[in-house]
Amino acid sequence: MSFDTYCRECATHYADTFTKNQHVQVVHHGITPPNPDISEELFYTINSHIPQVRAKTCPVCLVYFHTLSSCVCHVDNHHPPQSRVGCLMRPTKEAVIYEWERLIEAVFPGSLKFIRKSWRIVRDENHQMMGDTEDEEEEGDDNFYDI
Ligand SMILES: [Zn+2]
Ligand SMILES: [Zn+2]
Repeated sequence: MSFDTYCRECATHYADTFTKNQHVQVVHHGITPPNPDISEELFYTINSHIPQVRAKTCPVCLVYFHTLSSCVCHVDNHHPPQSRVGCLMRPTKEAVIYEWERLIEAVFPGSLKFIRKSWRIVRDENHQMMGDTEDEEEEGDDNFYDI
């Protein structure tokens, strides 16, 4: 969700730019109303009660992403569950992440699983190509658990 899918005149969000453009054609005779006079960042904050926006907003740093997959990517990389990282690093509130994942399931059913599954395929392919690098990373993880 962004200004591209929002009509300021009607204060209405649309599912995608195509739907919004259709709306502009029909209701505003093809003349796109100007964007709101606020930054997009503030705009997201204001609209963060909308589930579609919250699902694409990092629940920890409250940064909005234009696509769900980039948001999931950010959360997986920056706020990994304690079980994966070791208990000393980044005490991410797992409940916050869990709530956010449940919200995604409600708003975009199945997407989370699909996104993570497609990454795993990419990761596995990389793993086959450069197994050495992967092994080094895994050793680093083991050291973490020893601390
Ligand atoms: Zn409108
Ligand atoms: Zn974050």
